[in-house]
Amino acid sequence: MLVYGDLHIHIGRTREGQPVKVTASPQLNLEQIPQTAKEKGLGLIGLVDAACCGVLRDLQRLLHTGQLKPLTQGGYLWQGLLLLLGHEVEIAHKTGKEAHFVAFFPDLTLLERYAEHVAPCMTNPFLSTQKLRMSGDAWLKLVVESGGEAIAAHAFTPHKGVYGNCVRKLGEMFAHAQLIAGLELGLSANTSMAAQIADTHSYAYISNSDAHSLTTIGREFTAYDLPSLGFRQWAKALKNLEGGIVATHGLDPLLGKYYRSFCRNCQLLAEGDDPVLRCPRCGGPVVCGVWDRLREIRDMPEKAAERPPYISHVPLMMLPGVGPRTYRQLLKKLGTEIEVMYTVSLEAISDVAGPVLSEQIAAVRTGNLHILPGGGGKYGRITKAQER
Ligand SMILES: [Zn+2]
Ligand SMILES: [Zn+2]
Repeated sequence: MLVYGDLHIHIGRTREGQPVKVTASPQLNLEQIPQTAKEKGLGLIGLVDAACCGVLRDLQRLLHTGQLKPLTQGGYLWQGLLLLLGHEVEIAHKTGKEAHFVAFFPDLTLLERYAEHVAPCMTNPFLSTQKLRMSGDAWLKLVVESGGEAIAAHAFTPHKGVYGNCVRKLGEMFAHAQLIAGLELGLSANTSMAAQIADTHSYAYISNSDAHSLTTIGREFTAYDLPSLGFRQWAKALKNLEGGIVATHGLDPLLGKYYRSFCRNCQLLAEGDDPVLRCPRCGGPVVCGVWDRLREIRDMPEKAAERPPYISHVPLMMLPGVGPRTYRQLLKKLGTEIEVMYTVSLEAISDVAGPVLSEQIAAVRTGNLHILPGGGGKYGRITKAQER
């Protein structure tokens, strides 16, 4: 079966209103996430704050009240979705530079076992993505012993991505790097950019949203072919043992917040075919772009990788002129967001939202969008015809 999965969803608040991911929206909670995920068209979701104390308690309650239904191969059925329980952590490399990793676990018992071991190594185990006072190797060993699977989160971003910020090879971070099951591409990288680093070739590439709000759920996702719903089926698909990854649907990297380097001092976005690591105008430091970092550390030419296709996805709300009202109308009349973006007829879209939007969706489908690149924390922008 074809299942669309987004495995990087944070939690803003617990049921009792305690903050978990402080910078995330309070609406991003266990009450509202499943409904939104279904509207987007997802069939698989991963919560990356599931081991935070308050969230763990809320999940146990959902299990006891029968709202989470355990699946024989791990994972839970939650309002028709396959739910994976995950935990994002920050691990320091020996140079002191830090990177984020996410582990997913088959069930609450194993997650709890893992949580008991990591809690003493964090300053505040109630909060999301804590610095772990534990080596990468010790963490990975614990994940594996707890039946989990680990992925490198937003692996190429200069902000706490393992290749983006720390190392050129995962082996510099872990003695048994082959135990890492996959790399999350992040918003500013795609498959061909990632494939410039030979070390990445032995890992699956996946796309997830890193959602900090309900709106951003599903802005990137991965299409999996699973024999049936379950944690182990997902893990096997990731490793290409059974089923597999059909496609990654990620933002056009130009739309990402850290595509090119940016000098805050000069408000200057890097251009041209050479990596920019210092500001060409003032010589000062830049907020490094993913493109620039990868160009700097690459050891392979950029070419179409032999990988499942990378489909440049654009969330409906990122298209010019689409506000909450148009969004609601389209979903109410035509189906899920993924259906609207990929399968609903352009005529039907035009009937609901007008010809300008249906042309834009046609451009997304054929890869003909015009985009001004992002950088320095600012998203890229899709331009309207007259700005071209
Ligand atoms: Zn992160
Ligand atoms: Zn400058």
